[in-house]
Amino acid sequence: MMGAKKVSLIRDDFPALAQKVNGRRVTYLDSAASAQKPQAVIDMMNQVMTEHYANVHRGVYLFSAKTSAAFEDARTKIAKFIEARSAKEIIFTRNATEAINLVAASWGRKFLKAGDEIILTELEHHANIVPWWFLKEQMGVVIKVVPILKNGALDMEAFDRLVTGKTKLIAFTQMSNALGTLTPVGHIIKKAKSVGAKTLIDGSQGIVHLYANVTALDCDFYVFTGHKLYGPSGIGVLYGREELLNEMPPYQGGGEMIEKVSFDEITFKEAPYRFEAGTPAIVEAIGLGAAVDYLLGRLDYPYFIKHELALLNEAEKRISAIPGVKIWSQAPERAAILSFTIDNVHPHDVATVFDQMGVCVRAGHHCAQPLMKALGITATVRASFGCYSTLDDIARLEEGVQKVKKLFK
Ligand SMILES: *Cc1c(COP(=O)(O)O)cnc(C)c1O
Repeated sequence: MMGAKKVSLIRDDFPALAQKVNGRRVTYLDSAASAQKPQAVIDMMNQVMTEHYANVHRGVYLFSAKTSAAFEDARTKIAKFIEARSAKEIIFTRNATEAINLVAASWGRKFLKAGDEIILTELEHHANIVPWWFLKEQMGVVIKVVPILKNGALDMEAFDRLVTGKTKLIAFTQMSNALGTLTPVGHIIKKAKSVGAKTLIDGSQGIVHLYANVTALDCDFYVFTGHKLYGPSGIGVLYGREELLNEMPPYQGGGEMIEKVSFDEITFKEAPYRFEAGTPAIVEAIGLGAAVDYLLGRLDYPYFIKHELALLNEAEKRISAIPGVKIWSQAPERAAILSFTIDNVHPHDVATVFDQMGVCVRAGHHCAQPLMKALGITATVRASFGCYSTLDDIARLEEGVQKVKKLFK
C-alpha cells in the first residue's frame, strides 16, 4: 500500500510523465535508452543559468567562484554516490562512450602491445566493443569474447577458460541494456586479479538499478552515463583508481588540463583535470549532481530497487502468458528490462502500434548486434522500467501486446 503511494508521488516529480500522447497519459517504458528528468534536476540547471552562470576554474569573480564550487561539489557527490575513495577519481566525460574511448586511447595505447588479450562479452553494447576494436586494428591487440548461454546469461565456464596469463583487461557490462541480464561482477574481478588483468565495468545500466560501490567491487575502471541516471545528456563519468589514472597519459589536449605550456615543454595536471581538456559540460555536471542528490534524498533507493524487480516479475508473468509472445530476458539474474518478440510481427510494427496508445518502447538491436546474432534474431521489443514506472504502465504494456495480436491476426 505504502509502496504504491510512494511510486505515484515519485511519478509526479517527473513533469514529462504528466504529458498526454494521443489522448492518453504517456507510458514511458524506454528508460534504458534514456530516463526522464525529475523537476529537481531541471530546477538546478535552471538555477545555475539564471543566477550565477560563468565558466569554471578561471574567473576570480563571484559568479565563476559559485559555479566552480557547484561543479566541484557535483564531482564530490558523484564520488560519494559510487563510494570512490576520492573525488580525484571522478573524471567528467560526455557520456559512457567517451569514458570507454578515453581508457582505450590512453591506458590501452600506453600499456598494451600486439598479442595482449582483452576479454569482452557477447552482452556488450557497441560502446564497449568498438573502442577496443580500434586497438585490435591499430596495435594487434587480440579480442576474446565470452559467449552467452541460451537464457542470456554469460557462459562462465567459457569465461574461466578464456582468462589466461595473456589477458590484460576484462571489459564487461554490469547489466545488459538489451536483455537486463546481470553479470557475476565479483567472480569476474576475482578471476581478473588472479592473472593481474585490469577490469573495466560498463555501469551504464547497472548504476541505475543496482548499487555501485567501486571500492568494494575493487574494479580499475567504472563508467556510466548521466542521462540514464535521471540526469541530463552530455555528461558521463569515468571512475578510475587514482594511482592508475596518474600513470595514464592525457586523452585530449587543450586548456584546463595543463600545468605549464611552452613551445619546448608541456606538463600536465594530475587526474582528473589532465583528462578534462577544454570547457566542460558545466551545467550538465551540476545537473547530474542534482540527480544523485535526488536519488539519495527523495528516493528510498533500496525500496526502488525492490519496486523495479516486482514490476519486472509482474510484466513477465503477464506478457509471457500471452500466446505467441517470446521473452528473451531469461537469465536467472536480471533487472528492469523485458525484451520480447511477437510471432510474425516485426518489432518496429509493435512499437508503432504502442505509440498510437501513448506507450513508448524501443524496437531494434539496442546497439548490441553481436548479442542479437548470438540469439539468432535481428531485433526485439524492449520495455524498460525506471523508478517512476507503475503497475498501470505494465497494464498498458499488456493491453498493447493484445492489440498487436488482434491487428496482425
Ligand atoms: C547506453 C549504454 C551505453 C552508452 O551510453 P552513451 O550515453 O550513449 O554513451 C553503454 N553501455 C550500456 C550498457 C548502455 O546501456
